[in-house]
Amino acid sequence: MIRRQDTKKIRLGSIEIGGSSKVLIQSMCDTKTSNVNEIIKEINDCATLGADLMRVSILDNEDAEAIKTIKENINIPLVGDIHFSTDLALKAIENGIDKIRINPINTPKEQLIKIIDSAKKHNVVIRIGLNEGSTTKDGHNIHNIEDLISLTRETIEFFEAHNFYDLVLSVKSSSALKTIAIYKELANNFAYPLHVGVTESGFDDIGIIRSTIGISNILLEGIGNTIRFSLTKDPKLEIITAKRMLHDLNLYPNYPTFISCPTCGRCKVNNIKEIAQKVMNYLETNNKNISFAVMGCIVNGIGEGKNADIGIAGADHKFIIFKKGEIIKTVEENNLFDEVIQIINSF
Ligand code: SF4
Repeated sequence: MIRRQDTKKIRLGSIEIGGSSKVLIQSMCDTKTSNVNEIIKEINDCATLGADLMRVSILDNEDAEAIKTIKENINIPLVGDIHFSTDLALKAIENGIDKIRINPINTPKEQLIKIIDSAKKHNVVIRIGLNEGSTTKDGHNIHNIEDLISLTRETIEFFEAHNFYDLVLSVKSSSALKTIAIYKELANNFAYPLHVGVTESGFDDIGIIRSTIGISNILLEGIGNTIRFSLTKDPKLEIITAKRMLHDLNLYPNYPTFISCPTCGRCKVNNIKEIAQKVMNYLETNNKNISFAVMGCIVNGIGEGKNADIGIAGADHKFIIFKKGEIIKTVEENNLFDEVIQIINSF
């Protein structure tokens, strides 16, 4: 079991970030925020899949105005991503946003004070996002970890000097290894909750691998309170991927555990990969907290899948169904899925 580092606990709408709270999953909408119907659907779809909070971009007045309607139609906290505009930040806060993500480097100090005062008045959390590449010192981008940490310290001190403590920190890099190093330093230096992710991590397996390397290694150190897989893909995939990774780290217990073999020449049944996908989809969609093994043959399949609650192994154009390694049934390939569903549902 991962021993998680303690941080300050912060209330965010109906949930808490940090302290002993679970690791929260978040994603960001890829729809323009003022397209309210689309964005409400996107947020609610992600919430159904397991998003604990969702972030939207606030680029203009229409986006800031849309916050009111969006908030009336969703049940999870809403985060606004705002750059360069104090007016938009103030409007979003007044319209009910739960948390804003800002890069304080973009905002003059006197404007920042106005945002801090309004956030305090409306109980809004502020995430200080100082990603590598979006931070500068003397006109140059900051890449050195020590400089990123000292910039984070200066920024926190500014907020604290104005009596603002409901902070979440993030300092992401697009390099997984650098992100790990940065977050270890953040955790060593500050007690605020950390939002973890590898920024711009890429698409498909490139992004999933890079994000998983970065985020999982940070979580294994006991660091991190909210996570995001920043994939060039539908936000729904970010949520599903985050859940699967957290489950493998024992940080998301109520979730299916799925194993399937790579198949080889011993497999004498068809479509094993499609079957594996179909079973996993069923388990995830129906939120079944069981372990399931899809194995291509009985030679190794039953033994290797015996820790699973339920398993199937291909025989000669038939399937053996087993529970904890004990054979309970043999079925024809065509009837397999219906039989499996019945067994899963009665488990
Ligand atoms: S379980 Fe059977 S089919 Fe699958 S990889 Fe092992 S030997 Fe090959």
